[in-house]
Amino acid sequence: MSFCFTLHRSDAQSAARRGTFHTPHGPVETPAFMPVGTQAAIKGLTSDQVRSTGAQMILGNTYHLALRPGEQVIRELGGLHRFMGWDGPILTDSGGFQLFSLAQNTKVTEQQATFRSHIDGRLLELSPERAIAIQEAVGSDVAMVLDHVIALPSADDAIRDACDRTIRWAARCKAAATRSDQAQFAIVQGGLNPELRVWCARQLADLDFPGYAVGGLSVGETPNEMYQVLDVVCPAMPADKPRYLMGVGTPRDLLSAIRRGIDLFDCVMPTRNGRNALAFTDEGPLRLRNQIHQRDERPLEVGCPCLACRHSRAYLRHLFLADEMLGPILLTHHNLTYYQRLLAGVRQAVEQDRFGEYFDQKMQGWNKSAELKAAGD
Ligand SMILES: [Zn+2]
Repeated sequence: MSFCFTLHRSDAQSAARRGTFHTPHGPVETPAFMPVGTQAAIKGLTSDQVRSTGAQMILGNTYHLALRPGEQVIRELGGLHRFMGWDGPILTDSGGFQLFSLAQNTKVTEQQATFRSHIDGRLLELSPERAIAIQEAVGSDVAMVLDHVIALPSADDAIRDACDRTIRWAARCKAAATRSDQAQFAIVQGGLNPELRVWCARQLADLDFPGYAVGGLSVGETPNEMYQVLDVVCPAMPADKPRYLMGVGTPRDLLSAIRRGIDLFDCVMPTRNGRNALAFTDEGPLRLRNQIHQRDERPLEVGCPCLACRHSRAYLRHLFLADEMLGPILLTHHNLTYYQRLLAGVRQAVEQDRFGEYFDQKMQGWNKSAELKAAGD
């Protein structure tokens, strides 16, 4: 079987779990973090460098790839894996989130969404069938169904309506599938409404997808509001399938979501912050432009095997102040390495029945930092 999720161990004190998700391009040990390669590139890094951070699976964006270079170009060049030189598993987002965050004049009918390209203003259409056809053309291992994302806060009626449509669109995506080497994950919507979230999760579970995602979070709600949604939605999602929390988050968010039963993550936080001179460490984030690092000979983190940590904080700070492109490259490599080591630590801790201890230890370190609040947004 191309796809299967094996659960190895569940934490005794929490819902944290250790599993393996098997794909045609290799296994993904969970909990796992996927770096975001929106436009068939993890910004600033080669595929070999991405691999060296410990990343197993990466994410690409259907919306961006369909606009540029176009899915037919990628298909003709041998698919996304070959096109970008990444031979590991790839998950593609359906474009649902971008339709409502990037595209202009998005209008949703039962049949499809119409919108204008953020690049050239062209009028385009995205239906569930088209979202799957694009993802099949690029050949990702996991395709996300097209969902109807709405801004929060919204009226309950509007959330319910989008949630209903998301379920009908998920069924249409499933019916449109023609590739046996691609798995589809359904997306649970429902805003911050616990009843709607649970109802949506159960309806989607009845459709029997190989994996399930929680969407529509990390859009401006507080961390506690997000955790409350996870508290109710995770138990409503099938225990024998991977659970993916889309677009989240800080190191603290990751551990808090893992504790509630999430297996998979993606987020631009380590890469985007890296480009902006912010480095994640066990003592909280460091802002490299800060004067305090001017003569600091220490690496960002002792024992970190990344490319940045061969250098001093003083040198890294200099690169940013001098506007050298090496600065963003090195900090991206460090931050992705930090996220991967954090999750490798989670996997080991769950295996050894000490996830709670690991969780407390990391939280204590992050809480020490006065910079944490400013950077953890
Ligand atoms: Zn490092």
